[in-house]
Amino acid sequence: MGYKPHKIEMKRGRRRGKRPEPAQYLCERCGKPTVLPFIPRGTAPILCKGCLRKKKKREEQEARAAANLQARREREAAAQAMA
Ligand SMILES: [Zn+2]
Repeated sequence: MGYKPHKIEMKRGRRRGKRPEPAQYLCERCGKPTVLPFIPRGTAPILCKGCLRKKKKREEQEARAAANLQARREREAAAQAMA
């Protein structure tokens, strides 16, 4: 019959023991090479540790400033309501 039993199975592309290696990327901010413990998916900027820390600090400061502004607006609104 037309049945051919010698089907060759191609097992390629799956090397054993292949771990996700920590890859080197360039920091988007300062251009320094940095090793990421994860694979970037393009949703977040690639930053080195230093820039990441700075960014977090800045975000904290901005969050605090926004909270202060909000509080001041509320105080002003309350003061106007009193007047
Ligand atoms: Zn950097």
